[in-house]
Amino acid sequence: MGSRKQVVMIAHDNRKHDLLDWASYNSGTLSKHQLSATGTTGRLLSESLGLTVHRYLSGPMGGDQQIGAAIAEGRIDLVVFFWDPLEQQPHDVDVKALLRIAVVYNTPIACNRSTADFLLSSPLMDERYTPFANAD
Ligand code: PGA
Repeated sequence: MGSRKQVVMIAHDNRKHDLLDWASYNSGTLSKHQLSATGTTGRLLSESLGLTVHRYLSGPMGGDQQIGAAIAEGRIDLVVFFWDPLEQQPHDVDVKALLRIAVVYNTPIACNRSTADFLLSSPLMDERYTPFANAD
């Protein structure tokens, strides 16, 4: 992955406020990277940050699966996924699949705000980096 990272963001409804707050605090850093998100999350992010955010489908409508495919195809460098640990989702199986594929491809993934802070402030964000590939 190059020094400009492909960052994808996803937030379940109860976590959208948290993600928007985090993204707004970090908008300067995020603006240096290529941003994408699931449908509703992406709309809210581009409205509140004024940044270009490529939008996949909404999560429950297949967005998580699209992002999983993008990870498998090497088109995503970093995932910020604020999933809701307190409520079931209609697309829980897609959520599980996305979490799994991120681990399979050794893709950095932050599922809470502290981890997202640590990831975004890593010096590796501005350097070229090749994730160690899991064995085929
Ligand atoms: P959304 O999808 O951004 O379209 O709400 C997120 C999700 O629920 O997976």
